[in-house]
Amino acid sequence: MTPVAYSVVIPTVGRPSLGRLLDALRAASGPPPQIVLVIDDRPAVSVPLDLPAWSRLEVVPGPGRGPAGARNVGWRAAATAWVAFLDDDVLPPADWPARLAADLAGLPPSVAGSQGRVRVPLPAGRRPTDWERCTAGLVGARWATADMAYRRSALVRVGGFDERFRRAYREDAELALRMLDAGLDLVRGEREVTHPVRPASWWVSVTAQAGNADDVLVRKLHGWRWRERAGAPAGRLPRHVAVAAAGLLALAGAARLAASGAPAPGLPAGPGREPGPSAALAAAVGAGGSGRPGARRPATRWARVATVTGGLGWLAGTAELAAARIIPGPRTPAEAATMLVTSVAIPPVAVAHRLRGEVRHRRARALPGPALAVLFDRDGTLVRDVPYNGDPDLVRPVPGALAALTWLRGRGVPVGVVTNQSAVARGYLTREQVDRVNARVEELLGPFDTWQSCPHGPGDGCGCRKPRPGLVLSAAAALGVPAHRCVVIGDIGADMDAARAAGSGAVLVPTEATRREEVAAAPAVAPDLLAAVRLAVEGPLSRTGRDRRTAADPAPGADLPAGADGRSAVEQLDRAADLPARPDAQPGGAADPPAGTGLPSGTGLPSGTELPSGTGLPSGTEAPRADRRGGRGTGGTG
Ligand SMILES: [Mg+2]
Ligand SMILES: [Zn+2]
Repeated sequence: MTPVAYSVVIPTVGRPSLGRLLDALRAASGPPPQIVLVIDDRPAVSVPLDLPAWSRLEVVPGPGRGPAGARNVGWRAAATAWVAFLDDDVLPPADWPARLAADLAGLPPSVAGSQGRVRVPLPAGRRPTDWERCTAGLVGARWATADMAYRRSALVRVGGFDERFRRAYREDAELALRMLDAGLDLVRGEREVTHPVRPASWWVSVTAQAGNADDVLVRKLHGWRWRERAGAPAGRLPRHVAVAAAGLLALAGAARLAASGAPAPGLPAGPGREPGPSAALAAAVGAGGSGRPGARRPATRWARVATVTGGLGWLAGTAELAAARIIPGPRTPAEAATMLVTSVAIPPVAVAHRLRGEVRHRRARALPGPALAVLFDRDGTLVRDVPYNGDPDLVRPVPGALAALTWLRGRGVPVGVVTNQSAVARGYLTREQVDRVNARVEELLGPFDTWQSCPHGPGDGCGCRKPRPGLVLSAAAALGVPAHRCVVIGDIGADMDAARAAGSGAVLVPTEATRREEVAAAPAVAPDLLAAVRLAVEGPLSRTGRDRRTAADPAPGADLPAGADGRSAVEQLDRAADLPARPDAQPGGAADPPAGTGLPSGTGLPSGTELPSGTGLPSGTEAPRADRRGGRGTGGTG
């Protein structure tokens, strides 16, 4: 059996462990990776990474949006059926490639991913510290990208990592949950990497509380039961909330006492003393126990009760947290001191991050996912914009249009056209003339799965004329694909607005006629049609997403069972499994053009298609662009 082809993707912020990882990988035995993609995600890249010379190694600049974004850049650049993600602080053993190949060999198509085992070496002769135990939690973590291999087609299908996760936390489990939602299976392999415990500051347990905000995003995307599905431990947040609330109550009581001028004897808060609840508690207890007539006013009595009960609760909770962290550890004075101080800080910090997450992600929704169908504007996008054109002989495809359509058809992705043709309403053209031009477009660019054309004028108040959503919705219905899984590709703002109104994705491919503000407002922008369709199908769409073309990549969904969403399109994706995966391949059977069009069976452009070299639009097409806008106060030329 020939070993499966795989790429290795390693996001890095330049940790020194990366060099050791690459050295180990290069020296290892077994089928080597086709390519090792190191995504250099350092925020300010001034000096190149210090990496071993290796012909299989390629460094790709990262987008600087965290490990999720870096890994997306990596797998999209990979061209193999499998993509193995490694974190830059693991160490693979000498037989890792061989064992990876064994793990992946023979996996059924329904298995989208294989997780490696992680070994965390702990010190011999003493009990592990809190941080060491925390790192060791990786051993049982599900689907950790420390070593996780995915089928590239599965990544395409679900859209890759969600880049709203900015830190190395929960982004891997969240991806796995979407794989499971898509009906795919994930398995554990037998390979193993070593994950040493990194040196960390004594404050690390407090900074790690930022993960509470990421937990909110997972919950928003996958519901309250996500922990159960992801095998994530319940965590201590409820206790943190109670401790923080008790502390707050004590502080409020103490503040009230201070404001009322009530005597608050006790130890002065000198330097080095823990300010806040403990001082307040000491003050309140001191006041209560001094036998003074403390109940001069009801408000003061309430404040004393609050201070004492809140303070005691806070003290008990904090002590419990510290004890729970100290007792399993080495119990050295340094560790105990670290645990005591950080245990004071953790509950309020955890709650603050949780609240931050609730605010930041309050409107978070699942990403739309990659496109199951792509809808094109006609004039200025697929063909050169000849205003009010009724002459089939004037139809000229835009450079790259055929390549983009071929790329989509080769993957079984349905394609459609959504076009405003107000020339009919204006009396410039008959419907028959428009139909003849559309037929010529199909002669030159191959068949479309649906045509949706609006013959109305700006003043007709129809629901189909872009920027209204009618054309997009009709096309989605005709294709049997939910509108939110369609992506519209166009050259002006009305195309983007129609997509938005329909709930579809959109990519702008600007031409000379595209206004700067339209580019600025577009949800996504691509330099040409091929880049646009790749962005659409390999989503999630990102304003800053870059397109890295690869020579050959497997068809999306080529080896995966159909999901529930957008069934007909998914079935088409699956049928594409039988097609050649070359990006330039003609779809077998799909291209059955009208006689005499000369659509080649290989690549490139049809004979007889004269294209202006290099440039999209010829000069002199600045004539009226009546179908630019909807004519509803947008100040357009229509
Ligand atoms: Mg247009
Ligand atoms: Zn209309």
